[in-house]
Amino acid sequence: MTQAVVLFGSPGSGKGTQAKLLKDCLKVPHISTGDMLREHIREGNALGARVAATMHTGALVRDDVVNQLVEKRLAEPDAQAGFILDGYPRTREQAEHLCGWLDSRGIRELVIHLIVDYNVIVTRLTGRRQCPRCGTLYNIVSSPPRVEGVCDLDGQSLVIRDDDRESVIRERLAAYESQTRPLIEFFREKGRRLFEIDASHQTPEALLLQVCRTIKTPETGLSGRPAGQG
Ligand code: ADP
Repeated sequence: MTQAVVLFGSPGSGKGTQAKLLKDCLKVPHISTGDMLREHIREGNALGARVAATMHTGALVRDDVVNQLVEKRLAEPDAQAGFILDGYPRTREQAEHLCGWLDSRGIRELVIHLIVDYNVIVTRLTGRRQCPRCGTLYNIVSSPPRVEGVCDLDGQSLVIRDDDRESVIRERLAAYESQTRPLIEFFREKGRRLFEIDASHQTPEALLLQVCRTIKTPETGLSGRPAGQG
């Protein structure tokens, strides 16, 4: 059985952190469209050049570009046993594309919606720092590095990701509200398996336990609350 997990939630809801922890549990790859797009920009290739300007404003990259990127990634050998999608789908067109892809292969995905208070989101996003070398994420309030401004793992100076600047954060949250949040209704309407977990105040490790339990008991939803049922 293919283990297909879609981590869904606002920017700053902790999808990336959870996906990194979860991939070690499930032994399936973590597929982050944001990371893939940033990688193309770093490489300086044609796709990177096409998406860079859009990403720097905090708006969403075109659906056909992202759909193609994901489809190509899902065809790779390591994704055949399953995958964790992080940051995709983000629009109705992407959701329809993904559902069509999954349905044509008989794969039943599990969408996990990480629900986080708006104020917590803003604090997390504005306090986020990243190691430019190994990608480790820190937060100056909730998970600071041992030495201020320096990565615990490799001693690199931490940076603020370009799109974690305040005006860009506002735009990313606006894009989420207008284009991505409505997908919750789409998943419900289409009868997809959607579970909601309150992720505002738990440590990443505690949240991981809850996510794992939800994955193992998706039908009964012993830990995650099946969306729309209370
Ligand atoms: P976050 O979830 O914190 O916003 P991501 O790394 O997932 O961060 O995304 C960063 C940026 O990459 C987005 O603001 C958008 O420009 C682009 N992006 C990522 N995933 C998608 C997607 N599925 N569709 C369109 N644009 C995307």
